[in-house]
Amino acid sequence: MRKKVLAGNWKMNLNSNQSSVLFSEITSSFIDNSYLKIIVFPPFLYTKDLLSIDSNVSIGVQNFHPESNGAYTGEVSVSQIKDIGVTHTLVGHSERRTLFNESDDFLKQKVDAALKNNIEVIFCCGESIEIRESANPEDFVTKQLHSSLFHLSKEEIQKCMIAYEPIWAIGTGKVANEDQISKMHTAIRNEIKSKYDEETANQISILYGGSCKPSNAKAIFSCENVDGGLIGGASLDSNSFVELSNCF
Ligand code: PEP
Repeated sequence: MRKKVLAGNWKMNLNSNQSSVLFSEITSSFIDNSYLKIIVFPPFLYTKDLLSIDSNVSIGVQNFHPESNGAYTGEVSVSQIKDIGVTHTLVGHSERRTLFNESDDFLKQKVDAALKNNIEVIFCCGESIEIRESANPEDFVTKQLHSSLFHLSKEEIQKCMIAYEPIWAIGTGKVANEDQISKMHTAIRNEIKSKYDEETANQISILYGGSCKPSNAKAIFSCENVDGGLIGGASLDSNSFVELSNCF
C-alpha cells in the first residue's frame, strides 16, 4: 500500500537556531510509524546540521542544479546534495517555475539528475487562477506531467511523488474545495494509469498543497486519491505540523 506523506516546505524562512529548534520539536513529537512518512525541506544552509541528527524525519532540499559540477556560480549541484546525504527533493514548485523561470525542460533535467543520484522527487504541478477559471485545469496539470515527468520508465516514476498545488491556493489562505481536489487527484492518477499501468498508478503518492492547515486538513486528506500534504506556512509551527500528522 502506498504511504501517507506529510512534507513541510520551510522556504526561505528561519535562522539557524530556529531551524534546529523547529526540527527537534517536530522529531520529538512525531510518533514513528510505518504508515506515515514525514519529510522537511529546510533552507539549504541548515540541511547538513539537521542531517547530522538521528531522527525519524527525512530531510530534503528545495532546489539544486542538475549538473554534477562546473561553472554555475552560486548553485549547489546534484552530486553535492547527494554527498551530504540528502534523500528527497522538490522539483517544479510554482515559485521556482515563476520566480526563477524554470522551464519544463529544465525540470525534466532536474528529475533525471535527482533519480540518477537516488534522490526521491516530489514533483509539483498546479494551475494558475486564470487557467482554473477559463480553461480545463486537469488538462493543464496532466500536460505538466507529460512535459517533465512522464518520460521516466515505470521503475523510475515509482520513486517519485506528485504534489498538486493550485498556484492560487499557495500562501493565500484560499483552499481548493473537496470536489476540485478529488477531481484533480483522480485525473492525475488516471493519467499515470493510462501512461504506465494500474500497479504503478496505485503506488505513487499524490499530495495536496495550498493553504493546508489543521482546521482543513482532515477534509482534504479524506478526499479521493489524496495521500498527504505538502505544507508551507503551517509547517513553520511545530504544533500545527504535528497536529497535521494526526489528521490522516
Ligand atoms: C507550498 O508552498 O508548497 C505551500 C503549499 O504553501 P502554503 O501551505 O503556505 O500554501
